This record gives sequence, C-alpha cells and structure tokens, in this order.
Amino acid sequence: MFYNLKNTPDGYRMVKFDRYLNIEAIYQITYRRGRHYCDCPQGQKSSTCKHRDMIPVFAQHKAIDSGKFYCAETKTWEPRIVE
Ligand SMILES: [Zn+2]
Repeated sequence: MFYNLKNTPDGYRMVKFDRYLNIEAIYQITYRRGRHYCDCPQGQKSSTCKHRDMIPVFAQHKAIDSGKFYCAETKTWEPRIVE
C-alpha cells in the first residue's frame, strides 16, 4: 500500500492507494484540543493508528504536500507523478 499526505485547513488528509495507484481509502486527520484525530476505524476507538504514526515520517522526509508516495511495507518512497 502507498500513502500520500497533504495539509488541510484543520489537519491532514492521508490517501491510501493500492499498488496500481487506485485510491483505496481517504482518511481525514484533524487537530483538535491539542491532539490529532483520525477518522479511520482504528482511529475512532484508539488514541493512535498507523496513519497518525506516519505523520512524523512524512515530516522527517519533507514529504507533506510533496506528492510523494510512501510504501508502508518496504518503508521506501516513490517519486511524485509528473504530468
Ligand atoms: Zn487512522
């Protein structure tokens, strides 16, 4: 699975793609009262989830809003798609 992360006015939007870059899911991560919330099934019942865990990884690689794709299995990056 590949993930892409963008800033939104109230947090982040993480998009999950399959290996053919079809969109599998879109997660809204919002920042409220000093913490991040994720609307994924795991995020609704837990204070953390793998999407929020990936935010620091994206930040560390300056990949937020970059259009780069992160592969969670191999922990490698794919370049953004250039039109
Ligand atoms: Zn989540």
